[in-house]
Parts: sequence; C-alpha cells; structure tokens
Amino acid sequence: MIQKFSYHTHTNFSDGRNSLEEMLEQAVKLGFEEIGISDHFIVHKGFPQSPSLNLLQDYHAPHIYRVDFEKAVKDFKAHYEHIHTVANKYPLKIYVGAEVDYFDYDGWKEGFEYFKSECRPDYCLSGNHFLFLPDGRIIDPRDLSLAGSIEEQKKVVSNHYKMLCKAIASGLFDFIAHIDYMRRVEKNLNEDFRQDKENVVECLAKHNIPTELSTKGLRKENPDYYPAVWLADLLIEKNIPIVISDDAHQISELGSQFDKAESYLQSRNYTNRWKL
Ligand SMILES: [Zn+2]
Ligand SMILES: [Zn+2]
Repeated sequence: MIQKFSYHTHTNFSDGRNSLEEMLEQAVKLGFEEIGISDHFIVHKGFPQSPSLNLLQDYHAPHIYRVDFEKAVKDFKAHYEHIHTVANKYPLKIYVGAEVDYFDYDGWKEGFEYFKSECRPDYCLSGNHFLFLPDGRIIDPRDLSLAGSIEEQKKVVSNHYKMLCKAIASGLFDFIAHIDYMRRVEKNLNEDFRQDKENVVECLAKHNIPTELSTKGLRKENPDYYPAVWLADLLIEKNIPIVISDDAHQISELGSQFDKAESYLQSRNYTNRWKL
C-alpha cells in the first residue's frame, strides 16, 4: 500500500507554481483519496529590519513574508473560502491547512491564535525556515555568515533546533515538517548538530507529536529524505508517528517518490503512521 494523500502542499496562493485547481486535478489523477493544502503562513514583525530583506524580496513569491496578522488573516480567509467553494467538484476529501513558521517573540502566539480562531484551519504544521542573529534580527539561512565567527554561527544554528523544540512543546501544531531543514548550512560549519537533532526527536517523543518523512530532500543535491535516513531511523526507534510528505510546490511533485518512502518504512517494519 502506498499512502494516497499528502498534507504538505503549496499552491500559487503562497510560493507554489500551480493553482489550487491544478493541484486538485493532479491529486485526482494520482488516485489520492485526500489532500491537505498547507500554504505558508509566515508572519514576523521584524522582516523590515532583516539584513536578508533583499533576498526575501527577490524571491518569486515575496508576498509570503508578512508583518501583519490582520492582513494574513484576511488573505487566508479568502483562500480557504476559495478552497471550500471548489471542493465539491473533486472526488477528494480536502483539508485546509497552513505551514507555519513558529516564532517566540511577545505577541506572536496571540496573533497565531487569532488566525486559528478566525480562519479555522483543519490542521497546521510547523515548518521553520529562518535563523536569528545574536542581536535578534531574523535572517535567511543564506546570510548565516552575518552572525560572525564559525562558533557564533554554530550557536545560531543550535538555537534554531531549540526553537523547533519550543514549536513542538507549544502544542499548536498537528505535525512538524522537515526537522533537519537546516542541514543546508552544515557543510560550511563542519558540524552535524547531531545532539541538537536528537534533542528534537526527544521533544517529539515527549509530546507525542508526529513528524513527516518528506521526499522533498530526494529532489535536492545529495538526495536524502527530510529527515535524513539516520535521523528517520531514530524517529522509528522512538516510535514517533510518521506521515509521508512531498512538500509539493508544483503538480509534478505531488506524491513524488512516495513508493520509495513506503519501501523505506516497510524495510524497517514501521507501522506507526499518522493521518488526520
Ligand atoms: Zn517548509
Ligand atoms: Zn512546505
């Protein structure tokens, strides 16, 4: 059996390349039974002060980086209404969700709770994509060298994993995405942050929060799942509930390499799978 759904998908409402309708049509073609649409919900008050502002504005979908919860809520409300309006045209169970960057500054949680109460998503996953300089400014991981010495940079990355633990412990999320996303910065630092990642898995176990085995990493240079196999093996050892994800940003990525992910889980005789 191959998992016939994905809960981690993006449309051109955020940074996906395809429309909602195109994604839903593709899901039907693939024989999916369900799909969750989880466009990015990224609100941080400090984006205007970020040294990475130019990088973020250059991104093909700069509108996803927001400072204002009111505006985000308004846009997501319209997005969810659109999904609900077209939903009955497809033989699919369709969930409305969001991939949320978790932040811990004063007022963020209240803003996020406001979003939840106004927009009523069926589920939320946490996906953290940013780092913080020692002075508190938010940066794109590509700007990590701004943190200073290699030792300072390592601290910044280590703090990212602590932030993930806070997201897990917050109880705000149904599952946690790409727990080793920051492996993209490891090479320059000559450090694998093994202890930090093991701590994240301990947090998942303690709070019994599911996480994903994402095939997105298989589409990158040095292909491996998010999380990498050694870390996925640890998830399995700790009996963390797992959902296979594609993190699809276009129709060609939907359900991509789910057969491979299934085979991996089967090879470990792993059956603790999560679904909505
Ligand atoms: Zn993500
Ligand atoms: Zn994503």
